[in-house]
Amino acid sequence: MKVMKFGGTSVGSAQRMKNVADIIPKEGKNIIVLSAMSGTTNSLLEISDYLHKRNPDGANDTINTLELKYFREIEELFETREYKIQTLEVIKSHFDYIRSFTKKVFTLFEEKVIVAQGELLSTLLFSNYLKEAGYNIVLLPALEFMRINKNAEPDQNYIREHLNALVEEHKEADLYMTQGFICLNAYGEIDNLQRGGSDYTASLIGAALKADEIQIWTDIDGMHNNDPRVVDNTSPVSFLNFDEAAELAYFGAKILHPTCILPAKLEKIPVRLLNTMQPEA
Ligand code: ADP
Ligand code: ASP
Ligand code: MG
Repeated sequence: MKVMKFGGTSVGSAQRMKNVADIIPKEGKNIIVLSAMSGTTNSLLEISDYLHKRNPDGANDTINTLELKYFREIEELFETREYKIQTLEVIKSHFDYIRSFTKKVFTLFEEKVIVAQGELLSTLLFSNYLKEAGYNIVLLPALEFMRINKNAEPDQNYIREHLNALVEEHKEADLYMTQGFICLNAYGEIDNLQRGGSDYTASLIGAALKADEIQIWTDIDGMHNNDPRVVDNTSPVSFLNFDEAAELAYFGAKILHPTCILPAKLEKIPVRLLNTMQPEA
């Protein structure tokens, strides 16, 4: 079993999702971890910011714009009317839920619920797309197994037990999918693993399921010797040990979430950074 994590740009549009599907094996019981579509988490934080500032009109404008984007993606993504309608209804219910917060007291608790919608939306779209394309896929809700403790550290025993039980319950599936980033906290509330946290989800899942490999699919071919957004002519580094990778991530190599590597290191699971735009790289 492999963990395949796809970041926001990799699933940023209907077309990107279609390209990603070509990379995903139909068999092998691999597990796909998805981020929110690129821009969505930022929009959800913008909505939250309006609500913290008691500006429901500002929030509603951003909600409407974001919802329209999803309607357009659905139109482009699905072939059949059946899948279009079915997905549209669930997406609408998510946006109605987000809208309901414009009429309530707004705290950090509500913000986390809103921010969690990004990964719930992307996995809903993409798992339905793969179902329509004939994949025998089951969506495993991250909120049923991903958990942090009172110190905001992952509760590894809880994750291992609950995730293995869910996989066992769905033995018939040839492929699994789940949300990156989101989790429950020690009090059972919706929380998250911090910005960029889907990498961490992938590594925690890899460790919990003792996967053969953890693949982080992104928009660049591996960890480069410098930040390509700042430095010209960088090149990918072929091999890094876990400590070197963690150190680079810690000092800003945005390609990997800094703490993400630890669970993989402890279980000695190789991590590969791969490019969705150039899978052979
Ligand atoms: P994703 O949405 O897939 O999680 P991220 O944007 O989080 O992707 O990470 C990929 C980006 O990290 C690359 O597009 C690149 O601009 C940036 N990056 C920063 N430092 C490095 C580095 N040392 N090597 C590779 N990419 C890096
Ligand atoms: N969607 C979250 C973020 O934008 C998590 C992730 O992409 O890894 O930070
Ligand atoms: Mg990232």
